[in-house]
Amino acid sequence: MRVSLLFLGTGAPDAGSDDMPAVLVRAGSTFLLLDAGEGVQHKLARVGVGLGKIGYVMVTHLHGDHVLGLIPLIQSRALTSRPASQICLFGPPGLRKFLDSSFSSLYFDPGSSLEVQEVRGNEEVRMGDITARVEPLDHTVPTVGYFITVPEGPGVCYITDTRPLSDPAHAEGCDVIIHDSTFSWMELGRALEFKHSTALEAASFASSAKAKVLFLYHISSRYGDRGFLEREARRAHLHAYAASKYMAITV
Ligand SMILES: [Zn+2]
Repeated sequence: MRVSLLFLGTGAPDAGSDDMPAVLVRAGSTFLLLDAGEGVQHKLARVGVGLGKIGYVMVTHLHGDHVLGLIPLIQSRALTSRPASQICLFGPPGLRKFLDSSFSSLYFDPGSSLEVQEVRGNEEVRMGDITARVEPLDHTVPTVGYFITVPEGPGVCYITDTRPLSDPAHAEGCDVIIHDSTFSWMELGRALEFKHSTALEAASFASSAKAKVLFLYHISSRYGDRGFLEREARRAHLHAYAASKYMAITV
């Protein structure tokens, strides 16, 4: 089975960036959204994917740039696709409280079509044609990464926001790695302080994990020329590419 990836936002949380993180994954008839940065429903509309098709959303953590698109996505979906098909959300502890308090403040009831499952890591989740292993990451708040596989198909790792994992065995079997590359190695101090990764660190990890392709992701808007980070990453992994909005690949 093949897996299609469509980047809907690849920047870090500033208004000048290439939009907030979100990646649409499609395998067979299963549509999965990885993170839901603000504006994600508009971008799905722009690429012609009806909100009702999104059956699953996996969020890495509860920083605003990764989840502020969730509330409008769920609300629009419930209002426009009737009867609303089931949508299942996964994310670290706190996700249910964030959703409950937001919808309660907005006088909106998403109804029984919304299912929420909090995950901590070291567990596996099945979603239609997709299986995801959940692993804890190393960020400033509880954060998890998702290691996706499909039957007889490629593995895709989604690793953001985090310091690089110490053991590349975590990404064993991942053909494609989408990795936090917020900073250049020249800003390593900031990467350590804010618990992000540099492009060079992402590439070293992808190389150790023997991934075929690396996508640099969650890139700070300070890097107007993303080729700068690509060149840095290619010192450690030849097939490193800076992801950009609406970039699509099938593996
Ligand atoms: Zn974060």
